[in-house]
Amino acid sequence: MRDLSADHALLSLNTATVRKQGDLLAIVEACSRHGIRAISPWRDQVAAVGLDRAVRAVKDAGLRLSGYCRGGMFPADGAHREAARDDNRRAVDEAAALGSPCLVLVVGGLPQFSRPGSAPSKDLPAAHAAVEDGIAELLEYGRAANMPLAIEPLHPMYAADRACVNTLKHALDLCDRLDPARQGGLGVALDVYHVWWDPELSAQILRCGRERMLAYHVCDWLVPTRDLLLDRGMMGDGVIDLRRIRGEVEALGFAGFVEVEIFSNDWWSRSMDEVIETCIARHRTVV
Ligand code: ZN
Repeated sequence: MRDLSADHALLSLNTATVRKQGDLLAIVEACSRHGIRAISPWRDQVAAVGLDRAVRAVKDAGLRLSGYCRGGMFPADGAHREAARDDNRRAVDEAAALGSPCLVLVVGGLPQFSRPGSAPSKDLPAAHAAVEDGIAELLEYGRAANMPLAIEPLHPMYAADRACVNTLKHALDLCDRLDPARQGGLGVALDVYHVWWDPELSAQILRCGRERMLAYHVCDWLVPTRDLLLDRGMMGDGVIDLRRIRGEVEALGFAGFVEVEIFSNDWWSRSMDEVIETCIARHRTVV
């Protein structure tokens, strides 16, 4: 297991963590100032400053990416399917332009939430099938662009509106079906917030193997959790056994960045410098 205590060379900042405090250019500047070497930006933050400027800012700062957020949201009704496909292809292109090692996929839930305007449905098995079909189609495009797709299983509380792939097992089953020969270009993004509760987690991490572990995200689970989406905890403030999970991931040979991803009304209300300094301190002591 890697020793993170000496520095924060392996820390990546998911830019949603400080999205309320400044735009992407301000975040890149702050990361440089704090010696952070990698980020994982969101599409809306890139769009807000323009892709070309974002690419230049990242390059000028010497930053690397640990991922790009996000593609997915596959379930859609017939009228919205083509737009979903085109949108996902653009996400692949943007990820490639930014030099990301993967495009993170939040796969979507029921069509009316994944692609607003779609006809309402309660058919979860149909959503599962739409996700599988959507990833299969995007996988060809991603391979042609040399952009691996990282399926991020989300906590089951998001099954309706964000992602109906809710366990690492489900994500790996999809990988096995869509890439049975392990040609590559498809894997998972493992976020402790979504999977820490799963009694099968350790076994599924082993099953995942190194080549399919494309990204690793950390934060913490607060008790009580006051908001389903916007109350993630800073590492060390909650109940997730971060060291154990990272140990299992790194035992596979995972050598990527440890990406801090916190959506939190609490942390969004503090200064960017305070949030980044706290992320660095916790990275060195509890991650
Ligand atoms: Zn994540």
